[in-house]
Amino acid sequence: MAGDLNHFFVNHLIVGFVLLVTNLFVHKAFGWAVFSEVQDFIAGLPLAVQIFLIVLAADLVQYSAHRAYHEVPVLWRFHAVHHSAKHMDWLAGSRQHILELIATRCLVLTPIFVLGFSKEVIDIYVIIVGLQAVFNHANVNVKFGWLKYIIVTPQFHHWHHSSDDAAIDRNYAAHFAFLDYLFGTAVRGQKEWPDAYGVVGDYVPVGMFRQQLFPFQSVTRMVKAKFRARAERDRQQG
Ligand SMILES: [Zn+2]
Ligand SMILES: [Zn+2]
Repeated sequence: MAGDLNHFFVNHLIVGFVLLVTNLFVHKAFGWAVFSEVQDFIAGLPLAVQIFLIVLAADLVQYSAHRAYHEVPVLWRFHAVHHSAKHMDWLAGSRQHILELIATRCLVLTPIFVLGFSKEVIDIYVIIVGLQAVFNHANVNVKFGWLKYIIVTPQFHHWHHSSDDAAIDRNYAAHFAFLDYLFGTAVRGQKEWPDAYGVVGDYVPVGMFRQQLFPFQSVTRMVKAKFRARAERDRQQG
C-alpha cells in the first residue's frame, strides 16, 4: 500500500511530462498521416459521438497493447508489476512500470492525433481515463445490470487482476467491456468477485524502486538462461 502511494505520486508527477513528450513524438512521427478530410468529418459529428469514438479508438489500441503485454513474455515482465497487487483498491491502478506507462500513452495518442480530435474532446478523454483508472480498481460494490457487458466496471477489471485459472489473460478492455465479449477474451460464468488477486507464483518484489528494476533483472535472467541452455545443448552434441 505504501509502495502504491509512491507509484501514485511518481506516476502522476511525471504524467504531465510524459504527455508532453509523447505529444511531441506523435506530432513529429505521424504528422504526415493526418488528413484534413478525416479531421473535418470528425469535427462535424455531435460531441457525444466524438467522445464515443475517441474512447473507442483509444480502447482498441489499449486492448491490443494490453494483450501484447500479457502474451509476449518480455513485455509481461513489465506488466507483471501492475498485476502484483494482492489487494485491490483505488490506488492499486497506479502501480505500473514507468516504461509501460510511457509506451501505452504513445500508442494511444497516435490514433487520437491521426483522427484529428479537437483539444476539447481530447481533454474530456483525458478526464475519462483518469477517472476510469481509479474506478476500475476501486472496491465499488454496485450492480450495473446489463451495462456491465458494455462498459468496464470494477467487477470486470477486478477479474482481470484475479489469480484464478479462469481469469488468466482475460478482460483486457479499460473502457468498453464489449470489446472482450467481441474478441472472445471475457471472463464468463464466474461469481461476482474473485477470491484472490496477484501474479501466480508471486515473484514480483515489493516496493516501487525494486518493481521498476524487476523487469530488467528478470529479462537478463531469461536471456542468460537461454544462452546457458544453448551452450549445454552444443556441449552435448559436440
Ligand atoms: Zn493486465
Ligand atoms: Zn488494473
